[in-house]
Amino acid sequence: MASAQSIRSAIRDIPNFPQPGIVFRDITPVLADPGLFKDSITLLCDTAGGTAIDKIVGIDARGFIFAAAVADRLGAGFVPVRKKGKLPWNTRGLSYTLEYGEAEVEIHEDAVNPGEKVLLVDDLLATGGTASAAVQLLDGLGADLVAVSFLIELNGLSGRDKLGDHRIESIVQYE
Ligand code: IMP
Repeated sequence: MASAQSIRSAIRDIPNFPQPGIVFRDITPVLADPGLFKDSITLLCDTAGGTAIDKIVGIDARGFIFAAAVADRLGAGFVPVRKKGKLPWNTRGLSYTLEYGEAEVEIHEDAVNPGEKVLLVDDLLATGGTASAAVQLLDGLGADLVAVSFLIELNGLSGRDKLGDHRIESIVQYE
């Protein structure tokens, strides 16, 4: 039985990274443990709630690790949302404010067809700026967004409030 508690115990807190005052939640020990990595994928797959998903959309860069494995497990396609300037074909982009800085993300304009069932996956929900930009891009392409799923949610930053009416799921929460 996959346990969120064991995943939480393996997440490493790095104070003052990448800036003073930020506590970075480091997921690399979860990735390095075969059982915990598998469990994290199982729990993220469960957030689909049994709905048949056409595309798993992952956010650059740590989101790719989880989203690709979830896509393989659920028999879905994988779609990257990438930082500006990385995708080679026609894109749609949105800029947003990060917990520490500014950024812009892009998606290929033909990556998701209108009405396709999509699960958006990222490693961590902080202020919600990144996920909100990805959600708006998917809404703009006409995706049927089944849920937005994170391994970690930082509750204190209220990121989920930026994600509209979509169903938001997280495996491990911090205050
Ligand atoms: P947001 O846009 O403020 O919600 O920040 C979320 C994005 O920043 C995600 O794509 C994360 O990968 C990254 N991020 C922010 N804080 C952390 C952290 O403490 N650990 C790992 N990633 C983080």
